[in-house]
Amino acid sequence: MFKKQLLSVLVASACVAAAGVAQAGSITDQMVANDAKTTGDVLSWGMGTEGQRYSTLTQVNTKTVKDLVPVWSLSFGGEKQRGQESQPVIADGTMFVTASYSRLYAIDTKTGKEKWKYEHRLPDGIMPCCDVINRGAALFDNLVIFGTLDAQLVALDRETGKVVWKQKVDDFQAGYSLSAAPIIAKGLLLTGVSGGEFGIVGRVEARDPKTGKMVWMRPTLEGYMGYKYDADGKATENGVSGTTNQSWPGDLWKTGGASTWLGGTYNAETGLAYFGTGNPAPWNSHIRPGDNLYSCSTVAIDVSTGKIVWHYQNTPNDGWDFDGVNEFVTFKTKDGRMLGGKADRNGFFFVNDAKTGKLVNAFPFVNKITWASGIDLNTGRPKFVDANRPGDPAKSADGKKGEVVFAAPSFLGGKNQMPMAYSQDTGLFYVPANEWGMEIWNEPISYKKGAAYLGAGFTIKTINDEYIGALRAVDPMNGKIVWEAKNNAPLWGGVLATKGGLVFYGTPEGYLKALDAKTGKELWHFQTGTGIVAPPVTWEEGGVQYVAVVSGWGGAVPLWGGDVAKKVNFLNQGGSVWVFKLHKS
Ligand code: CA
Ligand code: CA
Repeated sequence: MFKKQLLSVLVASACVAAAGVAQAGSITDQMVANDAKTTGDVLSWGMGTEGQRYSTLTQVNTKTVKDLVPVWSLSFGGEKQRGQESQPVIADGTMFVTASYSRLYAIDTKTGKEKWKYEHRLPDGIMPCCDVINRGAALFDNLVIFGTLDAQLVALDRETGKVVWKQKVDDFQAGYSLSAAPIIAKGLLLTGVSGGEFGIVGRVEARDPKTGKMVWMRPTLEGYMGYKYDADGKATENGVSGTTNQSWPGDLWKTGGASTWLGGTYNAETGLAYFGTGNPAPWNSHIRPGDNLYSCSTVAIDVSTGKIVWHYQNTPNDGWDFDGVNEFVTFKTKDGRMLGGKADRNGFFFVNDAKTGKLVNAFPFVNKITWASGIDLNTGRPKFVDANRPGDPAKSADGKKGEVVFAAPSFLGGKNQMPMAYSQDTGLFYVPANEWGMEIWNEPISYKKGAAYLGAGFTIKTINDEYIGALRAVDPMNGKIVWEAKNNAPLWGGVLATKGGLVFYGTPEGYLKALDAKTGKELWHFQTGTGIVAPPVTWEEGGVQYVAVVSGWGGAVPLWGGDVAKKVNFLNQGGSVWVFKLHKS
């Protein structure tokens, strides 16, 4: 009798899960793997581990979007504002959203009422390169898990907000921090590290999400040993990443950066997690002749073994801070091939085979690229324009400053942290692109723990008077830009595509906008009161489709933007989350 009852309870809960509504304490690996298909929740960064940011919901569509109105808005409050780059995750009628300064809020999705908040106690001396931002949390079982600016992982009980476990990832005084949303793949919590401007060691770590204990660690710098860990935490060697000194001279790989600061995506069909890697350290490329693997690359890691299955380097021997962290978003072609698209900071859009890494296509998605004239599809390597690499300071008269060059894109990138979306209906990627350049030069530099490790100076420059940002609809197969929507300020928020034929994105000027996915025509906008630098999401509850976005101007542009920062310094700061629905629904 008891068994029968238990069985019926299990069947009932399985039915609820199938309808796309998670029950408290029950978020499983399988549910995260199905996240893109279940419309009643948003369980992962990317709205599905592939990172397509595509929803099959159609209640809000090209015809009805004109009736989209706000339902509620919650302020993150306090004196702490700055950039808000977070994607909310949503389960059981609760939204979990991270905020600047390592804060996390649990909010009732119906009323907008704050259920609890967690404010991480940050020590003095944290060293985030690019504002005090956070990009979101992961959900697993009864936990909500996120990374902090002092390089810790914190897991909180979803109901109470109480700390269940905390793990230190590394030494914040050496420049480590965490800004990406962790992902769940094959029951493991996968995270990267931030700190590429401080000569840290880039890597991907896999942990038991229930305890935070390490399972494996894979460095993304060629030469470092990977490790596996047993239940007692004892480490055993798991093979060197690459071959020591093959792509790096001397000891430079030991402080070579290649930080994995935007996190990763995961494809259940290939069993591979895809992490983008940042610049090789220091920026001055003349100090480190060679390709400097695995910097500025896509690294595909077998989640079961913690080994690198393939890598593709977008910018070998980078000399422009073209971090290749941009998300690798897998998609299936009409003829059934599994490919991945990546809009790289270096201005080229790359399409690789998701299983093998073989380059399938590469084309510019910005108008001006100075560092390379193209990507050779046979060799997979860029055709460098040698004259446009910043000069070697060792060859200057006083040995202190190399030749200044104008480079485009700027190091803020053809695209930066703001994630693109892929529509399964149009087959297009929607890329938040920016057109800008920089003056850049190299200087001598040596590594010092906790100090900026650049060996470069720079000034960001505008290219066009009328716009910097442009949301572009990009065909990954033929490289065509199908349409674009220009924006005066640089775009810094992510994108959402829906089966309702819409593309949502935010602007630094404060607007959340909905465009026709086929034509780029603007159909709706709403002023959120401060700049948007975060990706929108959508989900349904009780037969109603909701759209949410975090609003709060900041991030890297006001800090590093040079001439561009002067153009956007009138924008107001803030910090809040907005939720919308059709006023008739
Ligand atoms: Ca879902
Ligand atoms: Ca960098």
